[in-house]
Amino acid sequence: MLISSRFSSSFARGRPVWVWLAVVLLSGSFTGCGHPTDTSQNSQASLGLESQGLGAASSQLLKGDKYSQLTVEVGSVAGHEPAQATLDYLTTFLNARLNKPAGIVTVTGTSVPATGSGGLATTDLATIEAANRKSYSGDNNISVYIMFLDNHNTIDTADSKVLGLAYQSTSIAIFDDTISLESNASDHALVEKTVLVHEFGHLLGLVNIGTPMAGADHYDYTHNRGHCSNPLCLMNYAVNTSRLLTVFSGQVPTLDNACLADLRAAGGK
Ligand SMILES: [Zn+2]
Ligand SMILES: [Zn+2]
Repeated sequence: MLISSRFSSSFARGRPVWVWLAVVLLSGSFTGCGHPTDTSQNSQASLGLESQGLGAASSQLLKGDKYSQLTVEVGSVAGHEPAQATLDYLTTFLNARLNKPAGIVTVTGTSVPATGSGGLATTDLATIEAANRKSYSGDNNISVYIMFLDNHNTIDTADSKVLGLAYQSTSIAIFDDTISLESNASDHALVEKTVLVHEFGHLLGLVNIGTPMAGADHYDYTHNRGHCSNPLCLMNYAVNTSRLLTVFSGQVPTLDNACLADLRAAGGK
């Protein structure tokens, strides 16, 4: 999960925007945020690999032996489509980390009906996915579904808002309305990229949810689960827009050596 939260009004840019990168453990129980747990009621197609908890598909995503190809299906509510540069960034990120000799294919154009403004619970996300997702794993292909939504997450508060959420083994939701609210227009692309690759990092089992730590302990025991203790790593729990622009020079944070080692030890590159 990626959460944005505001604290003070002291930032020079005029809008204090703090972005929290967080994860909710979805397998069996939503221990992180107290969400309902049973996704079977929503999986009208008995989704198999896709219906499992976060991190459960990490090995098959990283390795190329069973699934030599990855399809990334991108569904969007009209007006909330990701920038092509965002999808290109994700493709580059995945090609660098995943063993997929038959290739990584991005499929766009799947429309998702507008969901309104009343808030979406994570169980709602699974329902929306089941109604709109077209691609599932089969033969040599493993599929990931990413939906860019309007609306907001029901766990949002005045000071803490979810920007993105990896909520099942191959499923990510991005709350584009919330990103727009929490970032300046010029920062939107940077935040969008950061949210997307951070959430995909959770699908790859980082940190220690699906993919074990290969070397030194870099698990963040203090904050939300599945995050890296290195404040300069993509998988750290907390990044804010100010840091994205200053510490990271307007670049998307990258995985540190500890997280890279985890992925390589689990079958990635
Ligand atoms: Zn996270
Ligand atoms: Zn890390």
